[in-house]
Amino acid sequence: MQAPTRPFIDGEFRDGPGAGRERVAMINPATEETWCEVAAADGAAVEWAVAGAQRAFEQDWRDVTPGKRAEVLFAVARLIRENLEELAQLDVRSIGKPISDARDEVALGARVFEYYAGAVGKFFGHTIPVARGGFDFTLRQPMGVVAAIVPWNFPFPITCWKVAPALAAGNCVVLKPANLSPVSALRLAGLAHEAGLPAGALQVLPGSGSGIGEVLVQHPLVRKVSFTGSTSVGSRIMQLAARDMKRLSLELGGKSPNIVFADADIDQAASSSPMSVFANTGQDCCARTRVFVERGIFERFVERFVDATRKIVVGDPAQERTQVGPLVSRGQRETVEGYLKTATQQRHRIVCGGDRPRDRDKGYYLNLTVVLGCEPTDRIWREEVFGPVVCIRPFDHEEQMIREVNDSPYGLSGSLWTNDLKRAIRVARRVESGVLSINSNSSVHVEAPFGGFKQSGIGRDLGMTAMEGYTELKNVYVAE
Ligand code: NDP
Repeated sequence: MQAPTRPFIDGEFRDGPGAGRERVAMINPATEETWCEVAAADGAAVEWAVAGAQRAFEQDWRDVTPGKRAEVLFAVARLIRENLEELAQLDVRSIGKPISDARDEVALGARVFEYYAGAVGKFFGHTIPVARGGFDFTLRQPMGVVAAIVPWNFPFPITCWKVAPALAAGNCVVLKPANLSPVSALRLAGLAHEAGLPAGALQVLPGSGSGIGEVLVQHPLVRKVSFTGSTSVGSRIMQLAARDMKRLSLELGGKSPNIVFADADIDQAASSSPMSVFANTGQDCCARTRVFVERGIFERFVERFVDATRKIVVGDPAQERTQVGPLVSRGQRETVEGYLKTATQQRHRIVCGGDRPRDRDKGYYLNLTVVLGCEPTDRIWREEVFGPVVCIRPFDHEEQMIREVNDSPYGLSGSLWTNDLKRAIRVARRVESGVLSINSNSSVHVEAPFGGFKQSGIGRDLGMTAMEGYTELKNVYVAE
């Protein structure tokens, strides 16, 4: 498999003016070996790529008929499906994603393109009866060049769910993938061009966030920045974008709750909840890392949760049966181990995991870890650990539990388990999060808005809400 290793600018893999001098090693987290090197773009390449995207916008993509635009996006989806295995393998090597998850995520990317391809001709403004008579209507117009900056934890689907609605609305995109995982995004750009997307409509620039990411965010021709990543970088981007009022959507960190009432189907909740935190090795902004369990069922729930956790297959991400792979990097594992070290020095009880697997001398593996005895003030309870660590805590009263759930700077996702419908709706209304599921652990639906309250972000990905976010709303009045 030949991975693309150079920036994709104006319809070709090429070294931009400064690209090629700095090369970034792609390290397979399961083997710790370098499997390829990618040429990083520099500031001059950003300049080149944004100018090319603006040109493609003005001279081509903005004025492509909705029918043709939809046809191209459907063709992108088809090529993604035809190249599913190759795209999936690229993310297995880059970030240690288990192959079965990687395949599902590539298929999700294709579905995202299909959804927005189908939306192109069904997305329109309104006619508005205004008091002075005449004829008033609104237009949903593309913005121009959109900068998309994406993280390494779900490289392919997050790339698709920013690129597809932006293109569907008529914008052109300059994408900066994470330095740890640029290769599947580069491959996507090649496929999109093959599918008929004009040169310049999707540019992909590998390179560091603090370097080219900041240059891109501040470029005067960039009209919108769509970012997924940490809250600290989201806040920095917001400051940089403020100067010329760029539009923003930010999907940031989380510390999501999983609330289990005594009247829930405890077996179902306990057996499915471990993967709601350990999937993707816990490197998931929606990971349900704070579990609140009603006291009467606490012991029973913990026992079943731990049993189910021990059955999860941790191992080589290239193997079909693997459910959880290594952490993405040496640094990420050290960060997580830092949290565990403080936990062992305090009153916490680690009832499962907490260390590295003994049977692996290579790869950034960590055993799946269950922590009890947390207080709401503990760092491990409050901060985004981004690793395979869950904290479980009992609660006595619904009201007090909701206060603790909302006592967090984050508000992204969460679950609640109960068979009492009134309670489910009452609690769902009170939990401060952008996404919530009842008797389920799902967070992402292509058709529904995804994003957070509070420091988990601004704006929404997915659904028609995301497409609105890639347009400006114009009101036109015609006197009669
Ligand atoms: P970052 O927020 O640093 O990275 C996300 C993306 O932003 C990457 O493409 C990165 O580039 C880019 N970036 C970084 N700094 C800047 C900047 N100053 N201006 C513009 N772009 C920038 O996440 P990390 O990968 O460093 O992970 C750190 C922590 O963030 C994790 O431990 C986790 O807690 C959280 N996180 C949350 C995610 C989520 O889904 N909400 C996703 C990823 C991380 P590059 O990496 O190439 O330098």
